[in-house]
Amino acid sequence: MKYDVIIVGAGVSGLLCALTLSKHGNKVLVLEKGMTIGGQCNSYNVDGYQVDTGPHAITHLEVGPLKRLMDNYFDYVPVFENYGNYFARTEKNFMVVPSNLKEFITFDALPKRDRLIIAQGITKALTLSTFGMDLSKQSVYDTLPKTLSNDTCDFVNAICYFLSGKSMKETSVHRILTGSAFVRDSITQEQFEMDMGKFERKQTESILQSLIPSNLHKPLHSRMSTFSVPLTSFGRLATNQASCSQGYPRQGLKALLNTILQSLPDSVEIMTENRVNRIITENGKAIGVEADDTYHSNMVIHTGFAKHLPKMTEQLPASYIQELDEIDQTKSLTIWLGLDQVMEEFSYIGSEIWFKDFPYWAMPISNYDSSLAPKGKQLVGFAFIIDSNNSEKAEIEKAYNTIYRAVPGIEKHIEMKHEQIGVPEKGAVTINGKFANVRTPIKNLYLAGTDTDNRSMGITRAAYSVIELLKAVKEDGNLNN
Ligand SMILES: Cc1cc2nc3c(=O)[nH]c(=O)nc-3n(C[C@H](O)[C@H](O)[C@H](O)COP(=O)(O)OP(=O)(O)OC[C@H]3O[C@@H](n4cnc5c(N)ncnc54)[C@H](O)[C@@H]3O)c2cc1C
Repeated sequence: MKYDVIIVGAGVSGLLCALTLSKHGNKVLVLEKGMTIGGQCNSYNVDGYQVDTGPHAITHLEVGPLKRLMDNYFDYVPVFENYGNYFARTEKNFMVVPSNLKEFITFDALPKRDRLIIAQGITKALTLSTFGMDLSKQSVYDTLPKTLSNDTCDFVNAICYFLSGKSMKETSVHRILTGSAFVRDSITQEQFEMDMGKFERKQTESILQSLIPSNLHKPLHSRMSTFSVPLTSFGRLATNQASCSQGYPRQGLKALLNTILQSLPDSVEIMTENRVNRIITENGKAIGVEADDTYHSNMVIHTGFAKHLPKMTEQLPASYIQELDEIDQTKSLTIWLGLDQVMEEFSYIGSEIWFKDFPYWAMPISNYDSSLAPKGKQLVGFAFIIDSNNSEKAEIEKAYNTIYRAVPGIEKHIEMKHEQIGVPEKGAVTINGKFANVRTPIKNLYLAGTDTDNRSMGITRAAYSVIELLKAVKEDGNLNN
C-alpha cells in the first residue's frame, strides 16, 4: 500500500505531524522503533505510582505553538493545572525563585550586592533586546562581573543548566530572557492563519473535564480566559512571573499524549516495534522507507535524532552531514521517589531547584493530582543534567547523595525508587550548537522535533517545529488541502 506520508518516530513531534497532516487529508503511516509510543512524553506505572518520562512544565499555553495546534487540530484537549511556583531550596532557605526585579531584591539566598548586580544585568539585557540587539551569541558568563560570590555563580549556573542543558559559559543571555519569560515568543491565531490559511476551527472539549471534579486549584484554561492585557517587555521587569501560562496536565503527562491519540482520524496507522533502517530515495526524492518491510509514500518525515539521518540515507552533501554533527545535546537523569507519606518539605504546587554542587529540578507531581500516588503517599521527580563522560552508576549515586543532603530525613520515607536516563531535547540551545532545518537536501524528506527549532523548550519546541514543518510542506505544494 502507498501512503501520502510516512513518519519515522511516534514521540510527541511525530504524533503531532501525524495529527496535523491527516487533518489536511493525508493518509499517514507512523513507524516507531520502541514497544510503546510517546517517546519522551509519556507516563507509566511503577509499584502503584504513575511516573512521567521526566518532570514536565508545559510552557506558553496562552499563545504558544501548542495552543495553536490544540485550537486548530485537536478534538479533545487535556485539562492543564496551574503550574504554581518555582522555588529554590538551600540548607537554610526555601523561597520563590526570583523572576522580576522586586523578587531579586528580596531573594535572601544570595548576597545583597550580587542581587543588585543581577537585577541591573537583567534590566540592561532586556533594554538591549527590546531595541533589537541579538543576544543569542553573548554568553551569560561573559556578561556577569567576575566578582560574584560562589553561591551566586552556582545559582546562575543551575538556572542555565535547566534552561539550556549547559553551563553559563555556553548559555546565551537571550536564552535566559526567553526561558525566564521576560521575552515571550508566541504564535497568534492570526499569524497562524496567515501561514496556513484560514481554518474552520473545531470546538475542542476537554475529555477529562466532564469526568473529574475540580481539583484543589483552578484549571489553567479558566484562569487564562480572564487573562489581562499583555505587558510590554519593560512592564515585565516589575511583575514578571517565570511560571506564567505554564501548566501540568491533570492525570499526568500521558493525558497530553492521549488527547493527541484520541484526536487522530482513521487515516493514521501506527506500528510499534518497527525501526526504520533506511530512507529510500529515487532521483533525489524520498519515496519510502525500509523497516520490517518496505513502505512507499510521497513524503517522509524523520522525527528521531537529525544526527542519525546520514546513517539512514545516502546522497546527503558532506557540508550538511557536518552541520548535523554539530548539533549539541545533553543527558538527563530523573530519579522518581515514592514517599510513604506527604512530606511537609513538598507541600507546595510547582517545582524547586537545588543549586549547590550537583543542581536538581524537582516536582512533587502528586500534588497536582493525588491519583498519581497511592492514597496518602507522595510522588516526587528529581531531574539532574549528568556528565556523559562519567559512568551512569557514579552519576546516580551522586544524585541520591544530593537529594539526601538537600532534604534531610527523606531516606526513611522512600518506598519506591525509579531512575530514567534520557536526552531531554535532541538539540541543546548553546551559543555554538547547531539546529537542523525542517527541509533536508533530499526532496520530500523533512525533519521535525526538538533539534529543528531553537525556540522555547521540550514539548513547546516540538510544537514549533511541527508548525514550521507544515509551513514548508505547504510552500512545497505537498499539503493536500
Ligand atoms: C528529564 C526531562 C525533563 C523534561 N522536562 C520538560 C519540560 O519541563 N517541559 C517540556 O515541554 N519538555 C520537557 N522535556 C522534553 C520533552 O519531553 C521532549 O523534548 C519531547 O517529548 C520530545 O519529543 P520528540 O517527539 O521530538 O522526541 P522523542 O520523544 O525523542 O521521540 C522520538 C521518537 O522517535 C523514535 N525513533 C527514533 N528513531 C527511530 C527509527 N529509526 N525508527 C522508528 N522510530 C524511531 C524514538 O523511539 C522516539 O519514540 C523533558 C524531558 C526530560 C527527559
